[in-house]
Amino acid sequence: MRRPLIAGNWKMNLNRADAVALAKGLADADTSVDCDILVCPSNVYLDAVSNAISGSGISIGAQDVYFEASGAFTGETSTSMIADVGCTYVILGHSERRHVIGECDMLINKKVVSALAAGLTPVLCVGETLEDREAGNTQKVVESQFDGSLAGLTEDQIRKTVIAYEPVWAIGTGKTASPEQAQEVHADLRKLLADRYNSETSETVRILYGGSVKPANAADLMSQADIDGALVGGASLKADSFAAIINAAGVAAA
Ligand code: PEP
Repeated sequence: MRRPLIAGNWKMNLNRADAVALAKGLADADTSVDCDILVCPSNVYLDAVSNAISGSGISIGAQDVYFEASGAFTGETSTSMIADVGCTYVILGHSERRHVIGECDMLINKKVVSALAAGLTPVLCVGETLEDREAGNTQKVVESQFDGSLAGLTEDQIRKTVIAYEPVWAIGTGKTASPEQAQEVHADLRKLLADRYNSETSETVRILYGGSVKPANAADLMSQADIDGALVGGASLKADSFAAIINAAGVAAA
């Protein structure tokens, strides 16, 4: 049985006061369901948000990290730095980093390996563009990102990793993959896990869906057999909508 995980990606939004208020609002919200909760604020507010959620059971993660331990890497943040301010998770390979910043699978793979070595849980994102989907290449693209970004991981390491399927065309667009479209790719990812590792491992790894998840569509998405939670952008910026998604996931998993 995989415990659901609902993760909020706050992206480059909010100021310090708003980030702390959102964190406190979430900590006070009624989310007494059997579900892991994660928030990922901007790096500059990790410390403040970490303090605000202290003792609430909510986890905190970064939206990216660099793979080197320390040194002359201007502008970058290391795994030990984010762990030092309370992070236990890190989002890696988000589509905005792949398509806006230009990160490739080889770089993302180094970050995944480095995060795991530091005891962090990577939330590794994969997903096709609209062009890929319309050309019938969804499975091929997702498989290639899976193999490239997770290259060389041992069975133990992959079991400690969370995968997020995020179709690029559904992120921040208001267009959500239908539960059936999402389930199809999640099932493909689980088959990949069984193929590259074994069936026991494939049943252990959590696979989240991300792409315009809202309170109104969360229950239908979360009730799919291979969807184990959500990575939420826009709807994670308000405590009430994020709490409603958490509660929908908890109910679907019960
Ligand atoms: C995301 O940032 O990963 C995301 C899925 O955003 P949104 O929920 O706004 O589509």
